[in-house]
Amino acid sequence: MSKTILITGGSRGIGAATARLAAARGYAVGINYHRNGEAAQQLAREITRSGGRALAVQADVRLEADVKRLFGEVEESLGNITALVNNAGVLERQARVDEIDAARLERVLNTNVIGPFLCAREAVRRMSTRYGGSGGSIVNVSSRASVLGSAGEYVDYAASKGAVDSLTIGLAREVASEGIRVNAVRPGLIATEIHALGGEAGRVERLAPGIPMQRGGEAEEVASAILWLLSGEASYVTGALLAVGGGR
Ligand code: NAP
Repeated sequence: MSKTILITGGSRGIGAATARLAAARGYAVGINYHRNGEAAQQLAREITRSGGRALAVQADVRLEADVKRLFGEVEESLGNITALVNNAGVLERQARVDEIDAARLERVLNTNVIGPFLCAREAVRRMSTRYGGSGGSIVNVSSRASVLGSAGEYVDYAASKGAVDSLTIGLAREVASEGIRVNAVRPGLIATEIHALGGEAGRVERLAPGIPMQRGGEAEEVASAILWLLSGEASYVTGALLAVGGGR
């Protein structure tokens, strides 16, 4: 059976590593991006050159119309979507809760919570046996922040990932009898550009000594966990929140 995966925020970091690994495992890959078209197109070309199938699609996951168009375009070019990775996510500059305004809360929650909800809805409408689909698998990219709380850095971001955890548990139970498994990974400190958004590009190096494994993680290590959860190897796993944090 042909496999098609849609990865939100696939242009960089964990999303791009997941796209590469998915292509190597035989998926046709829909690579969503927001602003970084060049990186997304380059990744799609790289996958195509090595004999895979890939399509880069611009869409802002905060916007319902964009999400609908994204699913439509991927489906039209690559076939029925059998796997979704809700990976797109943002954080903002390190701040205390008493310094965070409503506009920032809206930006963070719209991307990290509304986006995954809208994408999960579109996926369920296509995958669920209730709608005539033949099943599928969803992995949400949460964070260890949902448990640790990110005090003094970005409690708003941590709370958005708490919502992603609840989405994972609730949706998993809602669609378990409809052929869809829903799981989440909770990465710890992973070397990507996201830390620079928080104003501290060297954050992983600073905090590495406090990680039980004494090092930050690589995007590829998170991608492996995501691909396992999506695969038939995890056929009885749903509603799981898998820590990928070196013990943190
Ligand atoms: P990253 O390198 O900053 O990449 C973020 C990705 O999200 C980019 O592809 C970006 O697209 C996309 N994106 C942002 N806003 C979007 C929007 N409105 N619509 C569509 N795409 C959007 O981050 P990362 O570290 O790989 O993070 C990926 C996921 O892992 C996030 O959910 C993050 O919260 C989670 N996570 C990361 C870590 C870590 O330590 N790195 C730890 C725990 C969890 P453009 O490039 O086009 O802008």
